[in-house]
Amino acid sequence: MIIAIDGPAASGKSTTAKKVAEKLNYTHLDTGAMYRAVTLFFLDNQTVLSDPNQIQHSVDLIRLKFLQDQTLIMNDIDVSAEIRTGKVTDYVSEVSALKQVREKMVHLQREIAKFQDVVVEGRDIGTHVFPKAKFKFFIIADVEKRAQRRFNEMKNKIGDINFKDVLLDLKERDKKDASRKISPLKKAKDAIVIDTTSLTIDEQVDKIIDIVNNKIHNRS
Ligand code: C5P
Repeated sequence: MIIAIDGPAASGKSTTAKKVAEKLNYTHLDTGAMYRAVTLFFLDNQTVLSDPNQIQHSVDLIRLKFLQDQTLIMNDIDVSAEIRTGKVTDYVSEVSALKQVREKMVHLQREIAKFQDVVVEGRDIGTHVFPKAKFKFFIIADVEKRAQRRFNEMKNKIGDINFKDVLLDLKERDKKDASRKISPLKKAKDAIVIDTTSLTIDEQVDKIIDIVNNKIHNRS
């Protein structure tokens, strides 16, 4: 079974998806991490984004694998921490808008979900990757609230950051993700919207688990 969780940056998708997967004993698939890894590879290899041949060459060289504990391995190296740096975040929307990149990632995502139950989080999961997912959720929250969450998270790790910059970066990334040509960030028509502005993580998780359990229960 597939549970799709989409939504804008810092909406609480990742933490929610991870906990929902844990509770249901499903595999958690963080597709944002995959696009981040590709971006890291492109940065390290100075792939020119206006050159389709270079893009294809780079895409062909990338091998991605998630370990059981969600560690992301790219070409035999653990990149789980490096894909979260500011540099990767700054470029990820440009890289993830590229056709060759999306084709390869979507193919991989579908392969991973072929033989197991998954909670998949991203931007285009309910609309494009798994349009027939049994459950689709679209997580939203006020942009100020999302920026505050991201700011708190980053402050502990990096220290010297400014709330306004975090807010602007979030808005910019959402705008790029929602306006790209291929599979933009968008709510699927049949997705259930969960507004997490004033919810705790546990409340978000419980809401989703309740919906899933109710539907399964009513059908059996
Ligand atoms: O979820 P996260 O914020 O880590 O995603 C990083 C970026 O990856 C997004 O801003 C978006 O550009 C891209 N992405 C995407 N499609 C997905 C998941 C993420 O384009 N399914």
